[in-house]
Amino acid sequence: MSPTTRRSFLTLAGGSAAALSMEAEFSNARQLPGQSPGESVGWQDGSFSNVMAIAAHPGDVFFAMGAAVAVATHFGGQGSLLSLSLGEKGSPTIPAEKYGASQREAAQKAAASIGAKAVFLQYPDGEIPINEEAKFAVCDLIRQYKPLTILTHWQGSWHKDHRACYEIVEDAIFYAGLPSLVRKEPAHGVRKQFFAENWEDASGFVADTYLDITAVFDGWLNACSVFPMWRGETGFRYNDYYGSLAVARGCLSNFKRAIALMSPAEQRVQRIRTP
Ligand SMILES: [Zn+2]
Repeated sequence: MSPTTRRSFLTLAGGSAAALSMEAEFSNARQLPGQSPGESVGWQDGSFSNVMAIAAHPGDVFFAMGAAVAVATHFGGQGSLLSLSLGEKGSPTIPAEKYGASQREAAQKAAASIGAKAVFLQYPDGEIPINEEAKFAVCDLIRQYKPLTILTHWQGSWHKDHRACYEIVEDAIFYAGLPSLVRKEPAHGVRKQFFAENWEDASGFVADTYLDITAVFDGWLNACSVFPMWRGETGFRYNDYYGSLAVARGCLSNFKRAIALMSPAEQRVQRIRTP
């Protein structure tokens, strides 16, 4: 055995030993470092029996949030996907009006395929306003669909529509739950809110919750594939990104497939009762 070959052999042997011991560690460990010992929060209390995703654009609502909605419907609950705009200016080649119509059609088809409802507010793409009218419009839809859990954009986004959506939803949830605020529908309190992981909203995003999406993974990917942009036609490879992200997040959470979510600060508060 030449010195070079021997060195290669030792490197290889060392490498596989490390891999083996790591594998043993993984299969023995029920809890990964940094992982909450509690198996799950939010499932037993039924918060995922009615989930509403609210995003600036149809792509965001399906690609970044749709799996959580699919989980709700898959296990017998209700799901809705609200886009504040049609994302009609998203194509570099197709005129906005035509692209908007195709986005709407794709969203309806995708929603139907996961047993959910696609809902739209037609603010102009790129110009979603942060005003009371928009907040009340979202408030009214929350009161109508009565979600127990809402997913939306995290505010750390480079996209102004995404930041606008974050702000609108914050106040819309507050308005929706206020009994003294009289609208067509009675007040509805949302139990849980989560911010979805989105490649465009990555600034300051810190995952604190993992949702097991193993059961809906294939169906959710099929729903997303209805959108031409899913395959990278507008420049970003959404399918590769969100498909592999679910695998990576699954590795970190001990689920086969998962999405990572971020809770608002007040939802992260935990109470420790002493005897
Ligand atoms: Zn977007």
